[in-house]
Amino acid sequence: MKKHILIIEDEEDMVRGLKMNLVDEGYDVDYALNGNEGLKKALKNRPDLILLDIMLPGMNGLEICRELRNNKMDVPILMLTARGDEIDKVIGLELGADDYISKPFSIRELLARIKAHLRRENRGFESVTDIVDLESVKIDFGHFKVTRMNEETDLTSLEVDVLRYLIGQNGRVVTRDDLLDKIWGYDKFPTTRTIDNHILKLRKKIEDDPNHPKHILTVYGGGYRFIID
Ligand code: CA
Repeated sequence: MKKHILIIEDEEDMVRGLKMNLVDEGYDVDYALNGNEGLKKALKNRPDLILLDIMLPGMNGLEICRELRNNKMDVPILMLTARGDEIDKVIGLELGADDYISKPFSIRELLARIKAHLRRENRGFESVTDIVDLESVKIDFGHFKVTRMNEETDLTSLEVDVLRYLIGQNGRVVTRDDLLDKIWGYDKFPTTRTIDNHILKLRKKIEDDPNHPKHILTVYGGGYRFIID
Protein backbone atom coordinates (compact mmCIF):
# COMPACT_ATOMS: atom_id res chain seq x y z
CA MET A 1 0.00 0.00 0.00
CA LYS A 2 1.22 3.52 -0.77
CA LYS A 3 2.50 5.52 2.20
CA HIS A 4 0.40 8.56 2.93
CA ILE A 5 2.13 11.87 3.65
CA LEU A 6 0.36 14.97 4.92
CA ILE A 7 1.95 18.39 4.30
CA ILE A 8 0.84 21.18 6.63
CA GLU A 9 2.34 24.34 5.20
CA ASP A 10 0.97 27.73 4.19
CA GLU A 11 3.42 28.64 1.40
CA GLU A 12 1.62 27.40 -1.66
CA ASP A 13 4.72 27.26 -3.87
CA MET A 14 6.48 25.13 -1.29
CA VAL A 15 3.45 22.83 -1.06
CA ARG A 16 3.25 22.50 -4.82
CA GLY A 17 6.94 21.61 -5.12
CA LEU A 18 6.88 19.15 -2.25
CA LYS A 19 3.75 17.49 -3.53
CA MET A 20 5.17 17.02 -7.00
CA ASN A 21 8.38 15.46 -5.70
CA LEU A 22 6.64 13.20 -3.21
CA VAL A 23 4.11 11.96 -5.76
CA ASP A 24 7.04 11.22 -8.09
CA GLU A 25 8.54 9.08 -5.33
CA GLY A 26 5.34 7.06 -5.16
CA TYR A 27 3.76 8.59 -2.06
CA ASP A 28 0.14 9.42 -1.61
CA VAL A 29 0.10 13.13 -0.74
CA ASP A 30 -2.42 15.40 0.90
CA TYR A 31 -1.92 18.93 2.19
CA ALA A 32 -3.44 21.67 4.30
CA LEU A 33 -2.65 25.37 4.00
CA ASN A 34 -3.57 26.29 7.57
CA GLY A 35 -3.15 24.80 11.00
CA ASN A 36 -6.72 23.96 11.87
CA GLU A 37 -7.39 22.15 8.63
CA GLY A 38 -4.06 20.37 8.99
CA LEU A 39 -4.88 19.05 12.44
CA LYS A 40 -8.31 17.95 11.28
CA LYS A 41 -6.86 16.05 8.32
CA ALA A 42 -4.16 14.45 10.44
CA LEU A 43 -6.64 13.13 12.98
CA LYS A 44 -9.12 11.97 10.39
CA ASN A 45 -6.88 10.46 7.71
CA ARG A 46 -4.09 9.08 9.90
CA PRO A 47 -1.14 9.74 7.57
CA ASP A 48 2.07 7.68 7.79
CA LEU A 49 4.17 10.81 8.12
CA ILE A 50 3.54 14.55 8.55
CA LEU A 51 5.62 17.44 7.21
CA LEU A 52 4.79 20.28 9.54
CA ASP A 53 5.58 23.95 9.13
CA ILE A 54 5.78 25.96 12.36
CA MET A 55 4.45 29.41 11.44
CA LEU A 56 0.96 28.79 10.13
CA PRO A 57 -2.27 30.73 10.00
CA GLY A 58 -4.65 29.44 12.65
CA MET A 59 -3.10 26.87 14.90
CA ASN A 60 0.71 26.86 14.69
CA GLY A 61 2.88 23.82 14.12
CA LEU A 62 3.89 23.45 17.75
CA GLU A 63 0.27 23.38 18.91
CA ILE A 64 -0.55 20.82 16.23
CA CYS A 65 2.34 18.65 17.35
CA ARG A 66 1.19 18.73 20.96
CA GLU A 67 -2.41 18.06 19.99
CA LEU A 68 -1.44 15.00 17.90
CA ARG A 69 0.63 13.50 20.70
CA ASN A 70 -2.17 14.20 23.19
CA ASN A 71 -4.38 12.19 20.87
CA LYS A 72 -1.84 9.36 21.09
CA MET A 73 -0.91 9.59 17.44
CA ASP A 74 2.64 8.30 17.09
CA VAL A 75 3.01 9.25 13.43
CA PRO A 76 6.50 10.56 12.55
CA ILE A 77 6.44 14.36 12.47
CA LEU A 78 9.13 16.18 10.52
CA MET A 79 9.12 19.91 11.18
CA LEU A 80 9.99 22.36 8.44
CA THR A 81 11.70 25.25 10.20
CA ALA A 82 12.70 28.65 8.90
CA ARG A 83 15.96 30.37 9.71
CA GLY A 84 15.71 31.87 13.18
CA ASP A 85 13.34 29.22 14.49
CA GLU A 86 16.05 27.81 16.80
CA ILE A 87 13.90 27.97 19.91
CA ASP A 88 10.91 26.52 18.12
CA LYS A 89 13.02 23.55 17.00
CA VAL A 90 13.84 22.70 20.58
CA ILE A 91 10.27 23.14 21.75
CA GLY A 92 9.03 21.11 18.80
CA LEU A 93 11.26 18.18 19.67
CA GLU A 94 10.15 18.43 23.29
CA LEU A 95 6.54 18.37 22.17
CA GLY A 96 7.16 15.14 20.30
CA ALA A 97 8.32 16.03 16.79
CA ASP A 98 10.75 13.42 15.48
CA ASP A 99 13.00 15.55 13.37
CA TYR A 100 13.32 18.94 11.72
CA ILE A 101 14.77 20.22 8.51
CA SER A 102 15.70 23.88 8.01
CA LYS A 103 14.47 25.86 5.05
CA PRO A 104 15.83 26.14 2.46
CA PHE A 105 16.52 22.40 2.25
CA SER A 106 17.49 20.12 -0.58
CA ILE A 107 14.66 17.93 -1.73
CA ARG A 108 17.04 14.99 -1.86
CA GLU A 109 17.86 15.36 1.80
CA LEU A 110 14.20 15.67 2.70
CA LEU A 111 13.34 12.52 0.75
CA ALA A 112 16.16 10.62 2.49
CA ARG A 113 14.88 11.67 5.91
CA ILE A 114 11.32 10.74 5.03
CA LYS A 115 12.45 7.30 3.91
CA ALA A 116 14.45 6.81 7.08
CA HIS A 117 11.51 7.70 9.29
CA LEU A 118 9.09 5.46 7.44
CA ARG A 119 11.58 2.59 7.62
CA ARG A 120 11.98 3.09 11.34
CA GLU A 121 8.22 2.97 11.77
CA ASN A 122 8.02 -0.36 9.95
CA ARG A 123 10.83 -1.84 12.00
CA GLY A 124 9.15 -0.72 15.18
CA PHE A 125 5.99 -2.48 14.15
CA GLU A 126 7.82 -5.73 13.39
CA SER A 127 9.72 -5.82 16.65
CA VAL A 128 7.35 -4.28 19.17
CA THR A 129 4.06 -5.86 18.31
CA ASP A 130 4.73 -9.49 19.17
CA ILE A 131 2.71 -8.72 22.25
CA VAL A 132 0.01 -6.08 22.15
CA ASP A 133 -1.27 -5.21 25.58
CA LEU A 134 -4.68 -3.58 25.54
CA GLU A 135 -6.53 -2.56 28.64
CA SER A 136 -8.52 -5.74 29.08
CA VAL A 137 -6.90 -8.12 26.65
CA LYS A 138 -3.39 -9.21 25.75
CA ILE A 139 -2.63 -10.40 22.24
CA ASP A 140 0.46 -12.58 21.89
CA PHE A 141 1.24 -12.93 18.18
CA GLY A 142 4.34 -15.02 18.82
CA HIS A 143 2.33 -17.74 20.56
CA PHE A 144 -0.93 -17.31 18.62
CA LYS A 145 -2.99 -16.60 21.67
CA VAL A 146 -5.17 -14.06 23.36
CA THR A 147 -5.55 -13.64 27.10
CA ARG A 148 -8.65 -11.99 28.45
CA MET A 149 -9.75 -12.12 32.11
CA ASN A 150 -7.13 -14.79 32.77
CA GLU A 151 -8.50 -16.98 30.03
CA GLU A 152 -6.44 -18.00 27.05
CA THR A 153 -7.85 -18.45 23.56
CA ASP A 154 -5.92 -19.63 20.54
CA LEU A 155 -5.65 -17.59 17.35
CA THR A 156 -5.42 -19.14 13.91
CA SER A 157 -2.57 -17.98 11.70
CA LEU A 158 -5.11 -16.22 9.50
CA GLU A 159 -6.48 -14.36 12.52
CA VAL A 160 -2.95 -13.35 13.50
CA ASP A 161 -2.38 -11.95 10.01
CA VAL A 162 -5.65 -10.02 10.05
CA LEU A 163 -5.03 -8.56 13.51
CA ARG A 164 -1.43 -7.65 12.78
CA TYR A 165 -2.46 -5.92 9.60
CA LEU A 166 -5.31 -3.99 11.23
CA ILE A 167 -3.17 -2.89 14.18
CA GLY A 168 -0.29 -1.92 11.87
CA GLN A 169 -2.48 0.65 10.16
CA ASN A 170 -2.46 2.85 13.28
CA GLY A 171 -6.18 3.45 13.33
CA ARG A 172 -6.64 3.99 9.62
CA VAL A 173 -9.61 2.46 7.85
CA VAL A 174 -8.93 -0.85 6.15
CA THR A 175 -11.39 -1.78 3.43
CA ARG A 176 -12.56 -5.34 2.89
CA ASP A 177 -10.89 -5.29 -0.52
CA ASP A 178 -7.66 -4.30 1.17
CA LEU A 179 -7.90 -7.27 3.52
CA LEU A 180 -8.70 -9.59 0.62
CA ASP A 181 -5.69 -8.28 -1.25
CA LYS A 182 -3.19 -8.19 1.63
CA ILE A 183 -4.19 -11.22 3.69
CA TRP A 184 -5.97 -13.68 1.47
CA GLY A 185 -4.14 -12.85 -1.73
CA TYR A 186 -5.44 -12.84 -5.23
CA ASP A 187 -5.22 -16.58 -5.79
CA LYS A 188 -8.04 -17.39 -3.40
CA PHE A 189 -11.54 -16.08 -3.81
CA PRO A 190 -13.22 -15.53 -0.48
CA THR A 191 -16.18 -13.19 -0.48
CA THR A 192 -16.34 -10.05 1.61
CA ARG A 193 -18.81 -12.06 3.70
CA THR A 194 -15.94 -14.41 4.65
CA ILE A 195 -14.05 -11.43 5.99
CA ASP A 196 -16.99 -10.25 8.03
CA ASN A 197 -17.29 -13.72 9.58
CA HIS A 198 -13.64 -13.69 10.52
CA ILE A 199 -14.04 -10.27 12.10
CA LEU A 200 -17.00 -11.53 14.13
CA LYS A 201 -14.90 -14.44 15.43
CA LEU A 202 -12.02 -12.15 16.26
CA ARG A 203 -14.32 -9.85 18.18
CA LYS A 204 -15.52 -12.77 20.28
CA LYS A 205 -11.91 -13.48 21.18
CA ILE A 206 -10.68 -10.01 22.00
CA GLU A 207 -13.66 -7.80 22.84
CA ASP A 208 -15.34 -7.65 26.24
CA ASP A 209 -18.65 -7.13 24.48
CA PRO A 210 -18.45 -8.34 20.85
CA ASN A 211 -21.72 -6.57 20.05
CA HIS A 212 -20.25 -3.25 21.15
CA PRO A 213 -16.62 -3.56 20.10
CA LYS A 214 -14.04 -1.13 21.46
CA HIS A 215 -11.12 -2.23 19.33
CA ILE A 216 -12.24 -3.64 15.99
CA LEU A 217 -14.66 -1.00 14.76
CA THR A 218 -16.84 -1.22 11.69
CA VAL A 219 -16.71 1.84 9.47
CA TYR A 220 -19.98 1.90 7.60
CA GLY A 221 -19.45 1.73 3.88
CA GLY A 222 -15.71 1.68 4.50
CA GLY A 223 -14.38 -1.39 6.24
CA TYR A 224 -12.69 -1.77 9.60
CA ARG A 225 -10.30 0.07 11.82
CA PHE A 226 -8.44 -1.02 14.91
CA ILE A 227 -8.38 1.24 17.95
CA ILE A 228 -5.76 0.50 20.58
CA ASP A 229 -7.60 2.16 23.48
CA1 CA B 1 4.78 29.27 7.24
